[in-house]
Amino acid sequence: MPTYEYRCQKCGNQFEKVQKMSDAPVAECPACGAGDAQRLISHSSFVLKGSGWYCSDYSKKSSGTTPEPSGGCCGCESGKCSH
Ligand SMILES: [Zn+2]
Repeated sequence: MPTYEYRCQKCGNQFEKVQKMSDAPVAECPACGAGDAQRLISHSSFVLKGSGWYCSDYSKKSSGTTPEPSGGCCGCESGKCSH
């Protein structure tokens, strides 16, 4: 299942939520409880959709010529990468 990033419109808290594709894009903010969280378009779902091929392929080829994003093999922000 893809992971979606949400940001609360009320308090600005940003969090991730694993949902089915068919689930409605609504989310309750875990920080303030408001139902104002808005889904962000992010790389998270893309990476998960690729089941890791992107990650391993990328790291093999990135020997100097390809700029490697800081923090992770797939461009994830540090600490957010799950593989
Ligand atoms: Zn909030």
